[in-house]
Amino acid sequence: MRVRFWGVRGSIPAPGPRTVRYGGNTPCVEMDIAGETFIIDAGTGIRELGFDLMRRAAGAPIKGRLFIGHTHWDHIQGFPFFTPLFLPTTRFSVYGMHGTTKPFQEVMAGQMHSTYFPLQLKDLGSKPEFHEMNGPLQAGPVRVTTHFLNHPGITVGYRFEHEGKVVSYISDHEPYGALNPKGEFSDKEDAAVARFVAGSDLLICEAQYTNAEYAVKRGWGHSTFADILDLAQKAEVKRMALFHHDPLHDDDKLDARLVESLALISSRKLAIECFAAREGQVVEL
Ligand SMILES: [Zn+2]
Ligand SMILES: [Zn+2]
Repeated sequence: MRVRFWGVRGSIPAPGPRTVRYGGNTPCVEMDIAGETFIIDAGTGIRELGFDLMRRAAGAPIKGRLFIGHTHWDHIQGFPFFTPLFLPTTRFSVYGMHGTTKPFQEVMAGQMHSTYFPLQLKDLGSKPEFHEMNGPLQAGPVRVTTHFLNHPGITVGYRFEHEGKVVSYISDHEPYGALNPKGEFSDKEDAAVARFVAGSDLLICEAQYTNAEYAVKRGWGHSTFADILDLAQKAEVKRMALFHHDPLHDDDKLDARLVESLALISSRKLAIECFAAREGQVVEL
């Protein structure tokens, strides 16, 4: 498996000189698994990925699968700018969850309504197929499963398994034990998330807030590093990629947060590898 980060920023694009090292585009992760293309989320990072897929294809048809964790703007706003979808020769399947009031496809079409955008979903020449996730999926060589996360609206994490390797994606998520009183409900739900990501070779996870920020943004659906480390520790993950960086956190702040995060890992005597994901970064598994 090869994982490449095309957008690592949460909430809203944050371009500019202060975010140039980690990048300002919103979530998009590409995975090459056994030669097939899997994409998680269609934040603004998917635009450059589209150009790159076209360069690599050199005129041949482009095929792939796109998985949407939830349909908040930062995770879908690049979708209408994903150029391969305009080519009639492209074959793409798009996966997500049924919305609270509408099917997934209608939710995705909503941001391309003429009130917001000049072209409609029907104008995509490739006619992508939309599928609602409803239990485990065998997608070519890969087994894909979902788990509901604790975030406003309907949000899922993804787990991708291929030949004994596992990549999990947990964004956006607020641990149940952080938001709710400690007790049976929180313990049960947090344990279920840990089981879902258990044994991941790579856990792509958000840790958007500092502890001080969390104190004033409780209930907004995001995590602190200490909380997400609890999850990684319980789940015995091997490597974690910090992701969905806060738009207020510039490069120096993210460097400093990573140093603090590594210190917490070593204070707990854990062998978990941890890095802060950067746009353009490639990880081989
Ligand atoms: Zn988000
Ligand atoms: Zn969100």
